[in-house]
Amino acid sequence: MPQAATSECSDQMSMNFSALGRMVRRFPRLHLALSAALAITVVAMALSPESGESHPERKQALTLPKPGTAPATGAASPVATTQPARPRPAPAPPEPEWIELEVQSGDTLSALLQEHGVTAAQVHRLVTGDERLAALARIRPGETLGITLDDDGELNALRYHPTRIQTVKATLGDDGRWQVQSETREYQRRVRFAEATIDNSLFLAGHAAGMSDNLTMQLANIFGWDIDFVLDIRNGDRFRVLYEELYLDGEKVGTGNILAAEFWTQGRHLTAYRFETRSGDADYFDSEGRSMRKEFIRTPVAFSRISSRFNLGRKHPILNKVRAHRGIDYAAPSGTPIKAAGKGKVIFAGVKGGYGNVLILKHGQRYTTLYAHMRGFARGIRVGSRVNQNQTIGYVGMSGLATGPHLHYEFRVDGVHRNPQTVPLPKAQSVSDNEKPQFLVQAKRMEAQMTLFAEAATLASSNVL
Ligand SMILES: [Zn+2]
Repeated sequence: MPQAATSECSDQMSMNFSALGRMVRRFPRLHLALSAALAITVVAMALSPESGESHPERKQALTLPKPGTAPATGAASPVATTQPARPRPAPAPPEPEWIELEVQSGDTLSALLQEHGVTAAQVHRLVTGDERLAALARIRPGETLGITLDDDGELNALRYHPTRIQTVKATLGDDGRWQVQSETREYQRRVRFAEATIDNSLFLAGHAAGMSDNLTMQLANIFGWDIDFVLDIRNGDRFRVLYEELYLDGEKVGTGNILAAEFWTQGRHLTAYRFETRSGDADYFDSEGRSMRKEFIRTPVAFSRISSRFNLGRKHPILNKVRAHRGIDYAAPSGTPIKAAGKGKVIFAGVKGGYGNVLILKHGQRYTTLYAHMRGFARGIRVGSRVNQNQTIGYVGMSGLATGPHLHYEFRVDGVHRNPQTVPLPKAQSVSDNEKPQFLVQAKRMEAQMTLFAEAATLASSNVL
């Protein structure tokens, strides 16, 4: 295919390649017939192995505490709330009386508060007093506000919830300024278990197991370094997942993180555990503490196609002479985000001749990656910036010598150009030696939870049948 082989900078006739089409091709079986996945989201409680109460007959209902935390007490009691403390019998400082207002369709903050004698000037001072109060200007129907008025009927406190877990409270100080406090509630987290055998597609199996697409995507991302979910998956492959569900006031509001996962595919068994390092980064590791990730992603731009391969004897399409192509070209629509292939530091950000806008990242001592023909750099990207793997560093363009938008990507090891498609990629960092004992304890605990859940699931299904 001569055009493809020489199209680094040739016309991108196939630019109508759409991201959607690509998605459909990636998950072709998503819309096919129903999966007969064995799928049980177990609503079974396994007691924490540490509690010393893990007799099988004690397995009864429902949820597990998050590994490493004390068992939850009341199923629906939030971990923390910002509600004022309940009135106690003991004498308390006089609580101002909160007037609760519900925003109706067509209401503005001014209109709402003016009904209670608050002047437009007061409202203006309030909204412009602190940036955390600015969102008040955009209140929407159904939201609620609380206000208190002093003896003269002047507004002296206001509280509202910009999001479901946030409360912002403004109190008028003696100096006439608004003091603002904001609090964020913690979600209550419950540990759930799901398992499924793939009969058709990963996503259908996930659905049948009660998993959201988002959660299934998380699962695919964890194992995506070792398993090609488009090519490698076979009927009969199966997985187990231990994950968090997020609750507020006893109501489920979303899914949290996958805590542990196992995947069986074509004779391979992969296990991953989530671990938060002391620096606060969370990542997935195998049972020995080795990273599930590689240090570099293979393709730094999603929804692209290779328009020119690594080729040391190539004829340049514009210069028309032999000029080695020491990188890979990915054709993608102008403006498509470009991701950092690995964690690193920006050592060049600027214009480099025919390469146009170029960014070079240094990753440790041995590796550098180069990104050329960019339309521009992402905000905050400059020489010296530190970037994380997958962070957007810029956008596909056609700056420099290029006749169509594409990313020219180079990968160097010890200063030598290597083919980004085939170069062996090192594993990302393992759990550090000093955190390893803690990791191993946590991993063992999650493994034990997984086993208990799985046993409970088997029991539950055999009881039903
Ligand atoms: Zn190129």
